[in-house]
Amino acid sequence: MFKGFSRFLQRPGERLKTLFNPESAQAGEDATPTRKVLPRDEHNVSRQNLSESALKVLYRLNGAGYDAYLVGGCIRDSLLGNRPKDFDVATNATPDEVRQLFRNSRIIGRRFRIVHVRFGREVIEVTTFRGRHGEEHAGNVSQQSDDGLLLRDNVWGSVEEDAIRRDFTVNALYYSVTDFAIHDWTGGLQDLDDRVLRMIGDPETRYREDPVRMLRAARFAAKLDFRIAPETEAPIRELAPLLLQIPPARLFEEVLKLFLSGHALQSFRVLRERGLFAMLFPESDEALNEQPWAVKLVEQALANTDARIAQERPVTPAFLFGALLWPCVQQRTPRIAHEQDLPEIPAQQAAAQQVISRQLQHTSIPKRFSMPMRDIWELQQQLPRRRGRRVFQTLEHPRFRAAYDFLLLREESGELTPGLGEWWTEFQKADDDGQRQLMADADGGPPADGPNGKPRRRRPRKRRRPTNKPTPPTLDD
Ligand code: ATP
Ligand code: MG
Repeated sequence: MFKGFSRFLQRPGERLKTLFNPESAQAGEDATPTRKVLPRDEHNVSRQNLSESALKVLYRLNGAGYDAYLVGGCIRDSLLGNRPKDFDVATNATPDEVRQLFRNSRIIGRRFRIVHVRFGREVIEVTTFRGRHGEEHAGNVSQQSDDGLLLRDNVWGSVEEDAIRRDFTVNALYYSVTDFAIHDWTGGLQDLDDRVLRMIGDPETRYREDPVRMLRAARFAAKLDFRIAPETEAPIRELAPLLLQIPPARLFEEVLKLFLSGHALQSFRVLRERGLFAMLFPESDEALNEQPWAVKLVEQALANTDARIAQERPVTPAFLFGALLWPCVQQRTPRIAHEQDLPEIPAQQAAAQQVISRQLQHTSIPKRFSMPMRDIWELQQQLPRRRGRRVFQTLEHPRFRAAYDFLLLREESGELTPGLGEWWTEFQKADDDGQRQLMADADGGPPADGPNGKPRRRRPRKRRRPTNKPTPPTLDD
């Protein structure tokens, strides 16, 4: 793990002196920062560890006479000795100019126009240097709402201006292939050395411009194991409700980054401590406070997700959202059963429906994830039924494996008394005789009573209308 930036430097003691390069300092406005340049022989970012495609983009832009840098997470993570997740390029070429240089590219976004350059499965994000708000260049505008929210940010500027428009100092380090040096306008090298996450500019203004930056603070603090600078941290609790203005689709993307990037457990804790989790999952936050097993269940699910990612095993948002929202479903089900006098299965279905529709006001959950999530939940009602054909129907259900993992999680968290999980573990391993024996030994499932001790009501079977078509046989027939 990273032990301090100085270990990458040849003369650590002289770092600040050598970094300060008065000749490259830009004269002019107060806000224009001073550049520090870390030459190639004083850092560990080597072309060998950078994406070939990203380098191609830099060379082609330079060849066409534009400035171009690698910036953001790829430089931050490389300096920390970690493998970058993706590569972002910043340039003075406009999106249209970039588009013309790369056949395999397309312009995306409205609020923030950028170009995606595709190389097979890899996408390099190319962003034009952003300038100051309120200034208009060649019809490109920025727009802010009355309370400071940045609605659009498409004003082009210089690289120095671009640096101070970024979020954290450690995310504003630029690498160029013209000199292979790292260029720093905001003190990011020092903060990287000190392992501090510091917002560039006035934190409150920057959070008001884009409240998602609060989530990014939590995410990077967790991922990098950095502390958040006190002035960067201070406004978060009070401004957290600004996240309620952010479109659910954007928050869904952020939730995936928070919880499916290998640092979910730590991210969850940082979010909860700062009052941010409640802005993403308000009902879960309440349920977590009320049901002692719920925090354990969510934390265990997140720890398992992190472990799977570390082993490069697949993870799905369906399971993640399933765990995050399950405490709400469990809290609502008995209430609905009681109020509407429903048996447990339809009561849980109704609860699931309500929980999902309320959550959709905060984060979207595309159908391709909410459907399997509901299957995982519904199978929780089937798993206790261990007699007859339905055992095999459960076992053959496409979501069985996820539902079984979910059951184990519920037992581990103390929501359920252990036992059923082990039965299913054995059942999956057993041969035919073993399975027959396990079924014979098992009790048939939940007691005949429904929730609240009321007798389970059987719906009268619907009479099938006679049709001319023969009905295909089903397992129930
Ligand atoms: P990672 O890709 O590892 O999650 P990253 O820092 O590269 O981290 P991206 O979302 O890829 O994050 O963004 C790339 C860069 O763009 C950031 O490093 C930052 O400089 C800038 N950036 C991204 N989002 C914002 C934002 N909301 N406000 C200001 N700058 C931002
Ligand atoms: Mg990135």
